[in-house]
Amino acid sequence: SVGSTTDHSGERVKVVVRVRPPNSNETGGAITVAPDNKGIVLYRDQSTIPQSGFEFDKVLREDASQADVFQAAVQPIVEDVLNGYNGTIMAYGQTGAGKTYTLSSIAPDAIGMMPRAASAIFSEIAGDQNNAYTVVMSYIQIYMELLQDLLQPQNNDLQIREGEDGVFVAGVHEVEVKNMEECLHLLQVGDRNRVFAFTALNAHSSRSHAIVMLTIMKRRNAAPQNRALGQKVKVGKLFLVDLAGSERLKKSRSVGLRAHEAVSINLSLTTLGMCINARADPNSTHIPFRDSKLTRLLQESLGGNAKTSLVIAVANALQHVDETLQSLQFGSRAM
Ligand code: ADP
Ligand code: MG
Repeated sequence: SVGSTTDHSGERVKVVVRVRPPNSNETGGAITVAPDNKGIVLYRDQSTIPQSGFEFDKVLREDASQADVFQAAVQPIVEDVLNGYNGTIMAYGQTGAGKTYTLSSIAPDAIGMMPRAASAIFSEIAGDQNNAYTVVMSYIQIYMELLQDLLQPQNNDLQIREGEDGVFVAGVHEVEVKNMEECLHLLQVGDRNRVFAFTALNAHSSRSHAIVMLTIMKRRNAAPQNRALGQKVKVGKLFLVDLAGSERLKKSRSVGLRAHEAVSINLSLTTLGMCINARADPNSTHIPFRDSKLTRLLQESLGGNAKTSLVIAVANALQHVDETLQSLQFGSRAM
């Protein structure tokens, strides 16, 4: 990034676990959270013998609000993005654990992280008299290693390229946005296209990664007192990534399309894990960004000079202990 002074290299991924309450078909009692809101213990049944315990940067209990999630996982990143860094918020977890609710709920009483991040960005911009900003939004999905534009769904094989300014999606539709409502509208347009695309394939949208990209360009405004400072442009990118469901896909039991889906989801989530783990390990030499489209697109955000929050979504349900354990292990390895 241009003109940056803070060194973020080596900064690790912030891992936040969000527990959702059991629904009417589930039995609770699978999870307890330590009083410090960092420790979490998993139980396999209603006995008192724990299955296993973990520590994270933060564990958000069942009663945590969307505002609590924002404060823990998103707020610290928004500031950086406005200063020309890349930031990423990723939601990981099995289907039904609360990833989409957390990132992109549009329910008025539970607005998700994507609109909240947009709202925070626009209010910072409104309060800055010294700089002029341009914000553009794109919305894509990665399904079976194909990258589809959710705002122009006929473009379903977009390519990732690397240029002077880093990694970009060639030809992706970018819409300039002026406020949170415009972002919300595009989110809904993209979600409709996503549902439509999967209905046509007789497949389920939880099998793809959905990625909102907000690019913020910032330049000194042209006021005479600022001219001497030059016209440096800072470009920050914010990625909000709703990952494909992490439930183990039994390859041997599925055929045709489903088998290919399983292979590509496993590949991209495994590669994502390896890239995040490599960042946490100072001795790692090779980071396999190029092994999946997802990690290639996010490589600058996973590579260290950027802030990343990983939200692990889990359900407090005895029915899901195996998947919950796998998700907590994924989060734990990222730290
Ligand atoms: P995912 O995207 O991980 O498949 P969803 O976000 O669609 O899961 O959530 C599954 C269901 O659980 C939805 O009906 C959603 O409204 C509900 N839900 C998710 N998280 C919460 C929460 N923290 N509190 C209440 N309901 C939730
Ligand atoms: Mg979802």
